[in-house]
Amino acid sequence: MTTESSPNAMDGAAAAVVQVAVHTPLHTRVGGLLSYSHTAPLPAGTLVRVPLGARQLLGVVWDAAPALPLPAQVQLRAVASVLQPLPPLPASWQRLVAFTARYYQRSVGEVATMALPPLLRKLSTEQLQRRLQRARPAPKAPPDRHAGPESEKIVALTAEQQTVCEQIESQSGPFLVYGATGSGKTEVYLHVVQQALARDPQAQALVLVPEINLTPQLLERFQRRFAPLWGAQAVVSLHSGLTEAQRINHWLAAHTGQARIVLGTRMAVLASLPYLAVIVVDEEHDPSFKQEEGARYSARDLALWRGRDVGAKVILGSATPSLESWHACEQGRYQRLDMPSRVGAAQLPTVRLLHMGQQPKHTVLAAPLLQAIVTRVQRGEQVLVLLNRRGYAPVLFCGDCGWKSDCPHCSAHQVFHQTDGRLRCHHCSASQRVPRHCPGCGNPDLLPLGHGTQQVQAQLEQALRNVLRPDGQPACIGRIDADTTQGAGQLQAQLEAMHSGAVDVLVGTQMVAKGHDFRRITLVAAVQPDSALYSSDFRAPERLFALLMQAGGRAGRDAHFMARQDSRPELWIQTLAPQHSLYQCLLQHDYPAFARQQLQERQQAAMPPFVFQALVRADAKTQEQAQRFLQAAADLGQTYAQAVGVFIYPPIPLAVQRVANVERAQMLLECSHRGALQKFLQAWQPYLHQLRTQHRQVQRWLVDVDPQTL
Ligand code: ADP
Ligand code: ZN
Ligand code: ZN
Repeated sequence: MTTESSPNAMDGAAAAVVQVAVHTPLHTRVGGLLSYSHTAPLPAGTLVRVPLGARQLLGVVWDAAPALPLPAQVQLRAVASVLQPLPPLPASWQRLVAFTARYYQRSVGEVATMALPPLLRKLSTEQLQRRLQRARPAPKAPPDRHAGPESEKIVALTAEQQTVCEQIESQSGPFLVYGATGSGKTEVYLHVVQQALARDPQAQALVLVPEINLTPQLLERFQRRFAPLWGAQAVVSLHSGLTEAQRINHWLAAHTGQARIVLGTRMAVLASLPYLAVIVVDEEHDPSFKQEEGARYSARDLALWRGRDVGAKVILGSATPSLESWHACEQGRYQRLDMPSRVGAAQLPTVRLLHMGQQPKHTVLAAPLLQAIVTRVQRGEQVLVLLNRRGYAPVLFCGDCGWKSDCPHCSAHQVFHQTDGRLRCHHCSASQRVPRHCPGCGNPDLLPLGHGTQQVQAQLEQALRNVLRPDGQPACIGRIDADTTQGAGQLQAQLEAMHSGAVDVLVGTQMVAKGHDFRRITLVAAVQPDSALYSSDFRAPERLFALLMQAGGRAGRDAHFMARQDSRPELWIQTLAPQHSLYQCLLQHDYPAFARQQLQERQQAAMPPFVFQALVRADAKTQEQAQRFLQAAADLGQTYAQAVGVFIYPPIPLAVQRVANVERAQMLLECSHRGALQKFLQAWQPYLHQLRTQHRQVQRWLVDVDPQTL
């Protein structure tokens, strides 16, 4: 607890001391609560502006007594203004923020500020008032049945959907809906949300999706379903793609209860939802639910905590659940609900493993695969080609002197981008024109090594240049990756081209593999997935399996289309290790077998979910400086760590050790009890802050609790 005092700050008679959560990097170590004076006590959750130094910051009045009575001579600065028109943030939101801060080792002020729309910092009281007016429901206005998107025809639930919905209705959860791709999980979410909201006219629902590019499609579906029932403004979205104005409007709608359904990416888990009754986490296994900057929270885990805290039902859904959730079901902590069949007699794709060891060397797309692609295009079907690497080739190489396109700032290669003739580092974004001659020896023939999405697209264009679709048009090869989707609306336009059938073959990274309900894809091919089998990250196989199942799940989703075409959906995998157990499980679509195997390995090796981890990272000019800080931290904590059963591993460099001329080191902490690890981290944190002042060369350090990438 710190006080923000100044000798002449007390204007007027201050009657009360208030604690305010603000985000100020300088004060992170003291918990982010500052004391101010105000003419009257303010209820906890009230939004205020307070002075700090020469600035004014947005803050939230926090329900905490000062640790010590203030000495009489300390004069507090006064709260600058109260965001009067806004109802205070509910106590449940404050608890969520407090928990998030504590669990992920951040300050309350930082988490609170992060959870609020940025525009709240800038708007005047009058501007806020006006926006609030708009967010408020028109008194008793009946929902306008003609406004907004067309209403959706309600489908009859399948037997599996029916059973799952009944279970969710009658039990308390949390639930894991383990449903095949295309089994109709979304319909279950819609149904459950509708039930909960119909039962209680105030109730709100939160629906979390992993990818921002999945929100428009889903949003439309929710709007079609619910606008006719509760008005066009009942459904709002919250994600980083919104403008600041949209973001605050949607946030206000949620905070005031006007919005009944909030659909968003991970950030939405921290929205103010005073009447939250049900939470859905779709594709709960997806790594993007973990925030990898600042407060490194897991939106899925917070959703579970929040649901339990406020008594809201939590429904996780996936075709390839995280091993954490799967394990939780086995322990009886979550309730598993299965939906093994696809809707409407649609079939899951047949998996084919294409042994690349039997193909000519340096083959990118094997001849049988190319043939299969041609056949599908000629029949008017679509193909998805998955390659998780953008650019043309990951490295440029000189066969004469061995020069490679290393990034001067990172321990990584610069990637060859053919479309604009540049070498580009995917870690620090440094880029340069492709050299005409080898910088090492002058050799004019530099060779691209390996392949990326641009190269696959080029090869497909070449191979399909004479192939016609049934309508007589030439085949069209599209590409979606981070390079083609930087502009606003670009991604949506490209997805639209796929949905409309303008594109026949889509080459893409993982961003197109998930969630999309493409209706005419019959073949999905993974070009080069093997590298994940040999990764040092123990979660890599889990992620690969999920990605391939998801990608395969884009094929054959429309039973009518498949029947009309007399076609069968297929997932092709080019691999050098067709016997690998991961692929063998995939052949059978046997996620449970894969999970069993992985969990067994993890248990034997004492890895999550059987143990709990935290990672401490430090960045410095040299690796030695970074590691020295970590080692000192370990030494300080060692005795207590042993006492509570936390094991501290030695510091090591990160897999990509240097990025933008910064050396990065990390140190892993492990414990078989979540609570003990938490206890240790709480006690240790102040020492780390202290230690940092003695290690000035350390540019930055952070703690990552339950890290998802090692
Ligand atoms: P998932 O999310 O499980 O992959 P979706 O919810 O996208 O699957 O459903 C797959 C397709 O089946 C969608 O086009 C959806 O509209 C359709 N669908 C879902 N439930 C039903 C149902 N009960 N009757 C008819 N079609 C359905
Ligand atoms: Zn050379
Ligand atoms: Zn770089």
